[in-house]
Amino acid sequence: MTFRKQLFIPNKRAYITGLNRPSVECIICAIINEEPEVANLTIWKNSTVAACVNLYPYNAGHLLLFPLRHIKDPRELNDEESLQMHSLLCHSLKRLDSVYRPEGYNIGYNIGEASGASIEHLHQHIVPRYPRELGFVDITAGAKIIIEDPNVTLALLREAFSDLKS
Ligand SMILES: [Zn+2]
Repeated sequence: MTFRKQLFIPNKRAYITGLNRPSVECIICAIINEEPEVANLTIWKNSTVAACVNLYPYNAGHLLLFPLRHIKDPRELNDEESLQMHSLLCHSLKRLDSVYRPEGYNIGYNIGEASGASIEHLHQHIVPRYPRELGFVDITAGAKIIIEDPNVTLALLREAFSDLKS
């Protein structure tokens, strides 16, 4: 394993304050539409929902699930989107279990600025939790040392999702 993989330090503050933020109206819509300004982080998608790697992960395997439709609140999900979001959650947990073997998960939506949400487009976080996390090395303002480059996560999970029909 290279040094780079072990010591990838994302800086979420720069992202939130706009220093590194791509100039697109909605980063999730840009990912869905494969716009050139954003990295292609999609693990899997169909015509309703998608899963992608979080570019600023809290842990190895941190995923985002979202409807393709630009909505801001879970109450706006239609029946088909609700069903598919849940189905994708289950498929994702199964694959994260086999690739990362975490001991738990935090799963949820951040709604509104006060929650820390920095992207308006509704998205569900899946954060795998591990028994010996490097929480004590948290630095400041959202910067954290993590153990895996998101590009590595992306490659591992694209492989794990390759059996799932889109
Ligand atoms: Zn959007």
